[in-house]
Amino acid sequence: MLKCTFCGRRAAYHRRYAGVLLCDRCLIKSVAKRFRRAIAEHQMISPRGRVALAVSGGKDSIALMHLLAEYCKQKNCELVAITIDEGIKGYRNRSVPMARENAESLGVEYVVVSFKLAFGATLDQMVKLAKLKKTGLNPCTYCGVMRRSLLNQAARELEADKLATAHNLDDEVQAIMLNYVRADLSRLHRLGPTYPPQKGFVPRIKPLREVLEKEVALYALLSGLKVHLGVCPYASGIHTEIRDFLNELETNHPNSKFMILRMFERLKPHIARVTPKFEMRRCELCGEQTSADICKSCELLKGLGLKRLQKTLISPKCS
Ligand SMILES: [Zn+2]
Ligand SMILES: [Zn+2]
Repeated sequence: MLKCTFCGRRAAYHRRYAGVLLCDRCLIKSVAKRFRRAIAEHQMISPRGRVALAVSGGKDSIALMHLLAEYCKQKNCELVAITIDEGIKGYRNRSVPMARENAESLGVEYVVVSFKLAFGATLDQMVKLAKLKKTGLNPCTYCGVMRRSLLNQAARELEADKLATAHNLDDEVQAIMLNYVRADLSRLHRLGPTYPPQKGFVPRIKPLREVLEKEVALYALLSGLKVHLGVCPYASGIHTEIRDFLNELETNHPNSKFMILRMFERLKPHIARVTPKFEMRRCELCGEQTSADICKSCELLKGLGLKRLQKTLISPKCS
């Protein structure tokens, strides 16, 4: 029997990049420790703050919800979970109940915002329209831009001072590589553990940014969390190619993902100097902050013959 390097119990995981074996308890402890260290190191959450969390219902966001719920209880912070229901048949309709169930079991306030209500169309319908209109854009472009926009607006309306997302180390390194491949300096510059405050934007935090995807998955599994295991039916293209490439690299050369992240962190201050600065203003159509006349989300909607319908996403509670 292989034994845990730290306590001698039966090992459940080989952390190759560090050359150690961990049992279920030590793995759970280690992930929680990294989560707390990231928060402390980057001052992600202020005392008595109000944190909004983007929850898809998958392993990463459910794990983060459990970690944040415990953290917020200890630190007297408020936590509100938001799910964006893009309207992906056979996928999102299964993960929303899972997210709600977890939130209820933890006593976390829970809100769902849907594409259908906000834009008058589900992502499935947008994908059909995009094909019909030959926009040449893939589903991830629509989904990513519009989901980000709704998340920010919902977090702002819920009066959150931080918006947490469950990006893990793999996600972060994939984003770094993707922006390299696309030579997108301004997106590259915006990556990081926290996102600097800007008017109209709720600052983003990524407390799981230094945990490998595999370890987040194990954390959820070994903690017995109820998660949705489906894969988005639209996942394809360059994102998955970069993911596969990075996984192969990590297998053959353990620690590569951390090294890419560390290198990016060292370069980041220099990237800021060469990134053009934009004046922010209000979108002429929806009023959200943007660097152009109309925001990216409204621009994409316009191309599909759609527009933003709901000005306010969260109806105020009667008190
Ligand atoms: Zn152990
Ligand atoms: Zn707009």
